[in-house]
Amino acid sequence: MRHLAIVGSGPAGFYTAEAALKQFGDTVRIDIIDRLPTPYGLIRAGVAPDHQSIKAVSKRYDAVARDARVAFFGHVAVGQDVSVAELCGLYDDVILAVGAPLDRPLGVPGDDLPGVLGSAAFVGWYNGHPDFAGLQPPLVARTVAIVGNGNVAIDCARILAKTVQELQDSDIVNHALEPLSQSAVRAVHIVGRRGPHQASFTLKEVGEMGELSRATPLVQAADFPPTEADAGLETGQRRVVEVLRRFAAAGPDAAKPVTIRFDFFRRPVRVVGDGRVEGLEVMRTRLDAAGRAVDSGETEIIPCEMVISAIGYRSAGLEGVPFDAAAGRFANVDGQIAPGLWCVGWARRGPTGTIGTNRQDGFALVERLAATGANGDTGGSKAGRVGLEALLGERGVTVARFADWEKIDAAEVARARPGAPREKFASLDALRTHFSR
Ligand SMILES: Cc1cc2nc3c(=O)[nH]c(=O)nc-3n(C[C@H](O)[C@H](O)[C@H](O)COP(=O)(O)OP(=O)(O)OC[C@H]3O[C@@H](n4cnc5c(N)ncnc54)[C@H](O)[C@@H]3O)c2cc1C
Repeated sequence: MRHLAIVGSGPAGFYTAEAALKQFGDTVRIDIIDRLPTPYGLIRAGVAPDHQSIKAVSKRYDAVARDARVAFFGHVAVGQDVSVAELCGLYDDVILAVGAPLDRPLGVPGDDLPGVLGSAAFVGWYNGHPDFAGLQPPLVARTVAIVGNGNVAIDCARILAKTVQELQDSDIVNHALEPLSQSAVRAVHIVGRRGPHQASFTLKEVGEMGELSRATPLVQAADFPPTEADAGLETGQRRVVEVLRRFAAAGPDAAKPVTIRFDFFRRPVRVVGDGRVEGLEVMRTRLDAAGRAVDSGETEIIPCEMVISAIGYRSAGLEGVPFDAAAGRFANVDGQIAPGLWCVGWARRGPTGTIGTNRQDGFALVERLAATGANGDTGGSKAGRVGLEALLGERGVTVARFADWEKIDAAEVARARPGAPREKFASLDALRTHFSR
């Protein structure tokens, strides 16, 4: 029997478990450990609440979790309740699928002023992640600058711009919907160092900017290269640029009170303010011959009262596990950190790709596992689940099993506001009432 511990129940953890079930058949036992009592990682806490069809992928993971060879150990924080070294003693293979939950800081003077938020915090807040339930973003702000040119920046802008009616049938938590319904925000700037050709938006996300009931997307025509240059783009990017060109041609819509301005070719240099955010100073940039953003020497201030940095994420290190601080992920070679210790998903490659990229990653990792003997050829004599249960029992750790999550799930669905799929429990205390014993 090969005993596998997968730390993290996001897409990478579940796809790795699915691949291991297929690869090892009846000769494997898999324990999926998560610090939260709820599974699915960023599917629950990152993917936008108004993108329910994407969240539906979690149904596929349920089949894995309910497999007799698999057990879910929720509410168990590795590094706190049990160490990686202890897991390595108990399991043939330990696979870190812990994601990249920390915001990369803006790294400019003033980025610690009240009113500067990371996207992990802001997204976690509206998605009901227990770490961010108490965030209280300053929605008295009339203008918000969001730094970053990827889909996370667009998600944040869209949630700020949508009406309550537009969010009613999403699973945005009420503790966010209520303050958003009173929000003073009338202008959102999406700030990026480079231009429309380099932006990392995808078509669906950028297209939705043009379908908002009270907000207009604004793009400067001067930010585009000549139209002929679009022919050199790969198809997906060309379509994104076509949509952005349409926004530039359409201009403002006087009937819509909120604007979402794409501020291309601007690099943040300083958050301005006395005790709180009053503006974001940006350096105007242009592209050099290699396509890099270089400073023009000209700066300007975007007056705003809230800044959200959406410039990427990094993993949190774990004691005793080699970490590549510059890249913000575990030091690994093709997923291997040390004999019997592996990483996968965002913990392995950093915050890139789609949910499906983690599937390829998980399946490729299991192929490498299969090519090595259990725990680097020590013979598969580990205690596995029985050992973990004994250890957690000794320490008085209350484990949330998958059946406990199913109770939480049912209770969340039952208390949903009309039209919404669920109302999440956003505090650990509220979640614990469903499994404490
Ligand atoms: C805002 C946002 C929106 C996104 N939207 C989309 C989208 O629309 N479509 C798309 O394809 N992709 C989207 N993505 C990307 C997608 O969410 C990621 O590719 C995917 O979630 C990464 O999976 P993962 O398993 O590596 O990490 P995660 O999903 O982050 O899962 C990590 C898990 O590890 C657990 N964990 C962390 N530390 C510990 C510990 N010490 N002990 C135990 N457990 C721990 C966490 O609780 C979590 O459950 C989005 C990402 C973000 C941030």
